Amino acid sequence: MRKNPFFEPYQTPHDTVPFDRIKISDFEEAFMEGIRREDEEIEKIINDPEEPTFENTIVRVDNENGDNYYDLLSRVSTVFSCLLSAETCDELDQLAQKMSPILTKHANDIQLNPRLFERIKHVYEHHRELTPEEKMLLDNCYDGFVRSGALLDEAGKEKLRQLSEEASLLSLQFSQNLLKENKAFTLHITDEKQLDGLPETAREAAALAAKEQEKTGWVFTLDTPSYSPFMTYSTQRELRRQLYMARNTECTHDNSENNIDICKRLVNLRREMAQLLGYETFADYVLKHRMASTIGNVYKLLNDLIDAYRPTAEQEVKDIEAMAKKQEGDEFKLEPWDFSFYSHKLQLERFNLDAEMLRPYFELSKVIDGVFGLAHRLYGITFKENPEIPVYHPDVKAYEVYDKDGSYLAVFYADFHPRKGKQGGAWMTEYQGQWIDEKGVNVRPHVSVVMNLTKPTEEKPALLTLGEVETFLHEFGHSLHGMFANTRFESLSGTNVWWDFVELPSQFMENFAIEKEFLRTFAFHYKTGEPLPDELIERIVKSRNFMAAYGCLRQVSFGLLDMAYYTKKEPFTDDIIPFEKKAWERAIIGKQLPDTCMTVQFSHIMAGGYAAGYYSYKWAEVLDADAFSVFKKEGIFNQATAQRFRDCILSKGGTEHPMTLYKNFKGSEPTIDALLERNGIKRQTTEA
Ligand SMILES: [Zn+2]
Repeated sequence: MRKNPFFEPYQTPHDTVPFDRIKISDFEEAFMEGIRREDEEIEKIINDPEEPTFENTIVRVDNENGDNYYDLLSRVSTVFSCLLSAETCDELDQLAQKMSPILTKHANDIQLNPRLFERIKHVYEHHRELTPEEKMLLDNCYDGFVRSGALLDEAGKEKLRQLSEEASLLSLQFSQNLLKENKAFTLHITDEKQLDGLPETAREAAALAAKEQEKTGWVFTLDTPSYSPFMTYSTQRELRRQLYMARNTECTHDNSENNIDICKRLVNLRREMAQLLGYETFADYVLKHRMASTIGNVYKLLNDLIDAYRPTAEQEVKDIEAMAKKQEGDEFKLEPWDFSFYSHKLQLERFNLDAEMLRPYFELSKVIDGVFGLAHRLYGITFKENPEIPVYHPDVKAYEVYDKDGSYLAVFYADFHPRKGKQGGAWMTEYQGQWIDEKGVNVRPHVSVVMNLTKPTEEKPALLTLGEVETFLHEFGHSLHGMFANTRFESLSGTNVWWDFVELPSQFMENFAIEKEFLRTFAFHYKTGEPLPDELIERIVKSRNFMAAYGCLRQVSFGLLDMAYYTKKEPFTDDIIPFEKKAWERAIIGKQLPDTCMTVQFSHIMAGGYAAGYYSYKWAEVLDADAFSVFKKEGIFNQATAQRFRDCILSKGGTEHPMTLYKNFKGSEPTIDALLERNGIKRQTTEA
């Protein structure tokens, strides 16, 4: 009789997932059996007559794989969630909906089990001397239970549950309102003259949108792929104004899609939850598990960036104004809906660069050689394709990765192109994590990068833009973090690090994209074999800093707004619109329009996971520039520096505080200086 492949050893090369043998019906069976085994294991932990210790409680709660029997639930969940993003179908989607509440309930039952928490608390209060990694595991475990309300009395637990349920409902409503408002507005054009300036791709998309709505002519919407080209290229100022105002007043109107009260309530709910759990503010609650650690550190970053970038940003805006006046006459007054249009004109005048120009130099197969070659040059590792490793789609390639001493390091899957059933964007995942088992065996990871890069056609191989090369380097950076992992506990391994630290290895790799020495190894014209000309590389490097200071202040303004809401100690009762204008004032150049509002459409901090975390975009940039500056100084291919980066950061996962790991690598804390240098920003010298 056929057996469910999740229930037995895979018997494949390196125990890789036997995609070819898994049927959709296997998932549900494995989920249910996995839940049952985990419940059984929790019962065993609770009923252990021995005094609770780190080994008999914390380690077992973390693995739930008693008797060294592989952890079925995590095994099936990993494969399931990876496929749900990379290769889904209706049946899999339906199963996801069915399983979601079952899995949530299962997780809650564990987190709210008072007898289990009693044991964990006992270990937390009476543990023996622990290694930093063990201490981190214990703290994470204990804090996870505490954050679920384990220390609260019954009334407190009930209150926390209510607050959290209300917050998730309101987040959902926030997103639905935004989506509805987005769909409600269309700019319908029937006179072709009004398309003046728009490139062919934008016109085609608008014609298609009109057709879908059974209209004649062209339809533009507030979705970025439609909105953004219109604002950049359209010569029709009045239409740009209409589109701009529609987008920037979304969810503020007097209708059922208004998000103002929802935002107020969400800010208050999060503050109440944090305070119930013993924190002063929601930001304090979030930052406890972040590299930045304190509200003061976040504000220091944001303020330092304002001081450094503001003068340049003001000059950049003046340059745009000058460009507009040059074209329209001295009376012209630049408005927000003119900004993209004239900034694009200025960019063209200065650099005459177009993303399409670079494609012939970035043929995918060469780029792969370049990226693997870079990893070899830095870390000595090699990649060998192995067709015996099962894959979930014929497009996917599977490689064995070997360390510099020749030993086996990891399995690396690469899934490059878009197709039906695959989500947009790019990401890195793992089909198996890394850990060291009781017998001391180091179980090596199976990592996967999934992307949506330009496909080959009948006439041409896959030719990438520079942006796509950067995406590849980015995801490859995450995968190195996974492949070099070398920790005892899987939950602290590889990319399982605090949030504002996870983008360091990925963004670090992006730095190579504009290094001549690296480009020279693979960027050859796919037809002529000519190398990418130095002059073009120099122009790319210069053009990257176009409007960099303005862009930085924009990110900082969002960070200020986020912090303003989530550092509140008292109930939030202000009016959202004026509150917003005041909160980010220091990072705004020029006047603010009275009716526009960002907060009501700022999904990151209202509905997404970035509440009190928006600063992390800039934080990660500071880190990657700072780390790369060490390589710039010691040699970008310096193997000793790379080894130190691997030993101190890439192999350590989340086993220690990220600042400790970073200081071990660099010898000091990061500063914003390297980012300023990369952006070509000169600090205003204050008096000596
Ligand atoms: Zn990333």
